Amino acid sequence: MPSCLPYKCPVCEQPLTLESKTYRCENKHAFDAAKEGYVNLHLVQHKRSKHPGDSAEMIVSRRDFLNQGYYQALSDGIVKCLSALPLGLTQSVLDVGCGEGYYLQQLRGASEGLQLTGIDLSKPAVRLAAKRKLGAQLSVINADALPFFDQCFDSVLSVFAPLNVSEVARVLKKGGHLIMVGPGESHLSEMAAHIYDQVTPHQGNYQILAGVEAFELVEELEVKQEITVAGGDVLNLLTMTPYYWHATEAQKESLSKLERLVTTVHFCLKVYRVI
Ligand SMILES: [Zn+2]
Repeated sequence: MPSCLPYKCPVCEQPLTLESKTYRCENKHAFDAAKEGYVNLHLVQHKRSKHPGDSAEMIVSRRDFLNQGYYQALSDGIVKCLSALPLGLTQSVLDVGCGEGYYLQQLRGASEGLQLTGIDLSKPAVRLAAKRKLGAQLSVINADALPFFDQCFDSVLSVFAPLNVSEVARVLKKGGHLIMVGPGESHLSEMAAHIYDQVTPHQGNYQILAGVEAFELVEELEVKQEITVAGGDVLNLLTMTPYYWHATEAQKESLSKLERLVTTVHFCLKVYRVI
């Protein structure tokens, strides 16, 4: 198993060392390692609510939906992008917003040689990711304060997740890569048609990198296919997307009664090099 990277204390920025199931820094800040194998580094005073991040319901829906393999083409695309990078499938990868760990699992399935790290703001999600037992280093923390020292990752992966561009640039090695995955314009358009009278194409959040000189776009990959979602999985799909918040109770009920939903999945993968 590849060695773990040192964590940076979120309070004083000194290194944390693990001693008898507790991470401590020289200033006596302490963070208990959970029995599942992750650490919560999120500071209580930074919490806006009791359960920050995605709700437990959204997380379980996403896990159940993704575990059915509906987004297999996307995870294949991510593996393809990583494989094409200089270190291929032997590099260190930080999944920012790793959620319940589906993509980390796909990466582990592709290679035992990847050094995998994941962070997410949602403790229930990170706990589920840890239960996958992937040999990944996992922590609960905000993407705006990555608990790692400068230049320690070969690549950062962001799949539909909030991203702090300057933090990503800081933790990437020189010449390292950011793989950003967002929706293509027809992503889930048939599902959206059940909810909106008029469907506006997705924009993605690539604009956060527009004009950021540290990042140079080096590769783009589009993944688009039609999937047939089984009736029991339609509500899970809805629940894991922002459409859930716009759907009326009547729309949720009618979607949940569908025998199947044929819909397009459309993803854009953009690979940036930090310079
Ligand atoms: Zn400290």
